[in-house]
Amino acid sequence: MGEQDSFIGKKTYSKIAFGEAYIIYQESHSIQPHRVKNIPEEIKILKKALEKAKNEIIKIKNSLENRAPYEIFAIFEMYELLIDDFFFQKEIEEEILKTGLNAPFILYSKTEERVVFFDKSEDPLVRKGGDDIRFVSDKIIFHLLKQNQEEKGLQDKILIAQKLSPLDLILYSYQGIKGIVLEEGDTTSHVAIVAHSMGLSYILGIPNITSKVKNGDTIVLDGFQGVIYKNPHQQKMSELIKKMQKQGELEQLFKNSNNEKQTTTIDNKPIIIQANLAIFEEISKLKALKPEGVGLFRTEFLFHEEHEIPSINRQVAKYIDIATAVPNSIPVTIRTFDFSADKTPFTLKHIEQHNPTIGLRGIRYAIYSNIFKEQFEALILASQKLSIKILIPMVSSITEVEYLKKVEAEILSQYNIEKKHKLGIMIEVPSSVYLINDIANLIDFLSFGTNDLMQFFLAADRGNHFINDLKNPLEPTFLRFLNFAVQEGLKNNLFTSICGEIASNPLLIPILVGMGFESISCSPFVIPEVKNIVSRLSFEECKRFKDNILKLKTPKEVEEEIYNFINANYPDISELLIK
Ligand code: PEP
Ligand code: MG
Repeated sequence: MGEQDSFIGKKTYSKIAFGEAYIIYQESHSIQPHRVKNIPEEIKILKKALEKAKNEIIKIKNSLENRAPYEIFAIFEMYELLIDDFFFQKEIEEEILKTGLNAPFILYSKTEERVVFFDKSEDPLVRKGGDDIRFVSDKIIFHLLKQNQEEKGLQDKILIAQKLSPLDLILYSYQGIKGIVLEEGDTTSHVAIVAHSMGLSYILGIPNITSKVKNGDTIVLDGFQGVIYKNPHQQKMSELIKKMQKQGELEQLFKNSNNEKQTTTIDNKPIIIQANLAIFEEISKLKALKPEGVGLFRTEFLFHEEHEIPSINRQVAKYIDIATAVPNSIPVTIRTFDFSADKTPFTLKHIEQHNPTIGLRGIRYAIYSNIFKEQFEALILASQKLSIKILIPMVSSITEVEYLKKVEAEILSQYNIEKKHKLGIMIEVPSSVYLINDIANLIDFLSFGTNDLMQFFLAADRGNHFINDLKNPLEPTFLRFLNFAVQEGLKNNLFTSICGEIASNPLLIPILVGMGFESISCSPFVIPEVKNIVSRLSFEECKRFKDNILKLKTPKEVEEEIYNFINANYPDISELLIK
C-alpha cells in the first residue's frame, strides 16, 4: 500500500466512493522537458505507449457498443483512426530525434501547438477536431508516464484531473468511472452539476491533486466532508465503510418512502419536487426516482453529438421525444440554450470575449446568433402536442422580455395556433429580481438559478476555485436577497421554482420551504431524499426558522442553526449530514 494522506476540498454532499486513482495529465507542470540519455529507447517507449493507447481505445469502443448511444461509440471509432495519423505515428518520433527531449513533453507540447490552430477556427468541425487530438494525446501520455501499469480501463476508477469540461465528463461516465476529483471548479461549475446529476461522487477545488496522487493509489472520496483519502489505513477505512453503510441504509429508507403522491409538508403545503436534467439518456433513471416534473432541462448538452444545431423539425422531434419519454407524463420545463464559457458546443462559432460569463451568453448569445428564434419555434410547436414549459435563461432587462413576447406572438400567428405552453424566465441575474413586478403580466413562471444569481450577487466567479470559500450558499446576505426575490414572485402570483444547486443540498431544504418556493427542482439522485425531508417539515415552522436564519450574520452561525434544526426534526439523518 502506498503512502497515506488526505486532502480537503469543498463539501459536495455526494456519496462516498472507493476506487483506484486514474490521473489525466493535462498541464505542463506535471510534464517537464529533459534530455533523454538513450533516444532509441525513448522511441521504443513511445511506440509501446502508442500501441497500449490504441488497444485501450479499441477496448473502450467495444465496451460502449451496446451501452452508450451510437454517437458516443462513433467518437471512439474516430479516435481509433486518429491514433494512426502521421502526427502521432511519425511527427512525434521525428521531433524526439531532432531535439533529444523526453517523449511525454514532446507529445504534450506538440499537441498544444497543433490544437491552437483548431481552437481558433471558425469552423465547428475543425474546433471539435482539436478536442479529439487532445483526448488521444492524453491517452498516450498516460501510458508514457505509467509504463508498467497494466491497463484495465476506467471501470470503477476515480478520475483525477486538473479540470474537465462537462462534455468530457459525460464521455468518461460512459466508461464506468465512480467519481472525479478536480483541481479547479466549484460545486456550481457545470462539470460539478453534470457529475451530480449522473450520480457520481465528486470533489472539486483541491490544488495540485494530480501531482499528489499516483495512478493506482486507493482513493476514498467523501463528498459529505469534502475530503479525499489516499491509501487510508485500516482504522480510517473501517470508519468510512461504516459511513458508507449508513448512507446505503438511508438511501433505502428514502427509496422505501418514495412514492408518486404529491409531496406536501405535514401542514399540507404542496411542494412540487422536480428533476434537473442535462442529457437525454438521464430520463431513463427517472422512473425509479419518481419526480413530479422536470423543472429544468438544460439543452446545452442535448445535441452534443451533432455537428450543427439541428433544424426546427429535428428539434421539435427531440423535444417531443423528451416529453414522451418522461414517466407518468410529468410536465417538462425545457430551457432554451444557455451557451456560455464552459457550455459552448463545438458547433458554435468561437467568439473571443474578455469575460464570457458576463458577456454574450444565454439569451444574449441566442438572440445575437439567431439560433433563439428557431429553438423557440421548435419548442412552441412541440408544446402544442405535449406538456412543455419554456424557460429562458440569463434575462436581465425588460427589453429581452418584450423581444420574447414579440417573437412568441409572431410564431403563434405564423402557424395560426393558440398558446398552449407556459413561458418562464430564469431569475439568475440580480437585475431580473427588480424586473419581476414589471413583467409579471407577460410571463407565467419563474425559475431561480442560484448558481448564477450567487456568482453575480457576490461578484464571485462560480468556476474559480481560489474564491470557493466566498461562494457559500449559507451566506446570510445572499439568503436575504434570495428571500426578497421569491417574495417578489409570490406577491405577483407567479409560480416560483428553484433549480440552482442549492436546491440539491439537503441542508438548505427547510430554509427554501420557509421562503415559500412552490417547487424544488434538484439533481435526480437526491429526489427521494428531498421528498422525504420536505414531507417531515412544517411550513409554518420553516417560515419561523427562515426568519431567524435571515437575522444571522455569518455562514458559520447559519450552519449551526441548521444543524440544531436538523437534530430536532430528523435526528435519524443528522448523523449523515453533520458528521
Ligand atoms: C443556475 O444558474 O442556477 C442554473 C440553474 O443554470 P446553470 O447552472 O445552467 O447556469
Ligand atoms: Mg444559470
